[in-house]
Amino acid sequence: MKVGFIGLGNMGAPMAANLVAAGHEVTGFDTVAACPDGVASASTAAAAATDADVVLTMLPNGAILKSVASEVLPVMSKGAVLLDCSTVDVESARAVAEQASDHGCLAVDAPVSGGIGGAAAGTLTFMAGGSDEAFAKTEPLFDIMGQKAVHCGPSGNGQAAKICNNMILGVTMIGTCEAFALADKLGLDRQKLFDVVSTSSGYSWTMNAYCPAPGVGPTSPADNDYTPGFAAALMLKDLRLSQQAAEAADADTPMGQAATALYETFVETEGQGDKDFSAMLPRFESRRRS
Ligand code: NAD
Repeated sequence: MKVGFIGLGNMGAPMAANLVAAGHEVTGFDTVAACPDGVASASTAAAAATDADVVLTMLPNGAILKSVASEVLPVMSKGAVLLDCSTVDVESARAVAEQASDHGCLAVDAPVSGGIGGAAAGTLTFMAGGSDEAFAKTEPLFDIMGQKAVHCGPSGNGQAAKICNNMILGVTMIGTCEAFALADKLGLDRQKLFDVVSTSSGYSWTMNAYCPAPGVGPTSPADNDYTPGFAAALMLKDLRLSQQAAEAADADTPMGQAATALYETFVETEGQGDKDFSAMLPRFESRRRS
């Protein structure tokens, strides 16, 4: 396939490199980052998109996605697919899909889970929204860049799945961290708490696979001074998207709201955005009930 790849940052560059390694012809454009080896460099987004079968975007947010979409859709071939793998708000994803349809193009929103490690290893999980036809056209690319792609329904549903998942993740991480901090104050050994919870009804991915307590459970960012992993600033971005969507859909999400407020304080007031999102544990450790 001919692929135009726009946004070659931490995630985009290794994803593009994997497409090249699998034999696809990739032309890239980024306002700042250089193209990885094997990716032909275009001087504008429109140039990267011209004649492409699929135009893949991996960008910071919905506003930038909409501006790039306005630039590339008019030059894209009829029937070509605009495949956005960024994490953006549901409304922007749906607006871009409508715009694509106005230009005779298809659109898929397919945010990812798996981070920079998954992007490099080609083991991302994609959650995709769009028509069956659009999903079928992009599936071969998901097979290269990832290990799993779930078609979640029409446009915007990929983003909806992503923010629901990450809202659960943020809430659960806070719950796990506050339980460890409470155990400390009750004189309960962290390893014992892990041994019990990881095989009891309080178990979760954050406890069992990504334990926020150093030296307990499997190796995780906690064992590396909370170097990300998944940075708290990115968790805050996703939690804010969940609350934006909840507001628009009139959904009651009190725990998501509380998690957003806590990560906001952690990142913006306390300057911990570069730490892994599990660094909530040392934060709780050092605090008293207020
Ligand atoms: P990044 O900031 O490293 O990369 C974004 C790239 O987009 C940058 O290189 C930037 O120069 C480029 N860019 C910005 N505006 C542009 C424009 N108008 N035209 C062309 N290029 C432009 O970010 P990232 O970590 O690669 O994340 C990309 C997306 O993936 C984000 O939406 C993020 O939320 C999501 N995501 C990231 C991770 C992660 O662990 N980093 C995990 C899952 C999802």
